[in-house]
Amino acid sequence: MQARILAALLNEIRPRWAVGSMLKILEKQHQHPAKFADIALAALTAARDPSVETPGLFFNDTRFWPDDVKAKLPKPPDCADHIGQDMYTCRSCKADVLCGDRPENMIGRHYEPPPSIYDQLTESLEAVPTGAAFPLEETP
Ligand SMILES: [Zn+2]
Repeated sequence: MQARILAALLNEIRPRWAVGSMLKILEKQHQHPAKFADIALAALTAARDPSVETPGLFFNDTRFWPDDVKAKLPKPPDCADHIGQDMYTCRSCKADVLCGDRPENMIGRHYEPPPSIYDQLTESLEAVPTGAAFPLEETP
């Protein structure tokens, strides 16, 4: 019953967060240690943030939780690329995003950047046999 009410409320605030999907997300977390009031507060805080697109993000992102509950939350998984950083709030990944080295949707996930133009040029030059481009002719 609580999940249905919360799902309906979130859907009112965020029409793209369908009631059915919200229910699935909430059901997966039915053993979450936080009280319903705290879960509801975190969910609503996330729904109010226009930068949040993933409906279930609030379960793992501590930004949305009341301070006294944060410490009791289960620890989120580590970032795939940066050990010791939380997957959802990895500062190293966010720095990569700011530099343009990582897409924003790859925070906390393993990301293999495409080879740079420098790397591509170096690689293609290395493929050319030495001296093939400008063969030196010996002067008589
Ligand atoms: Zn990271």
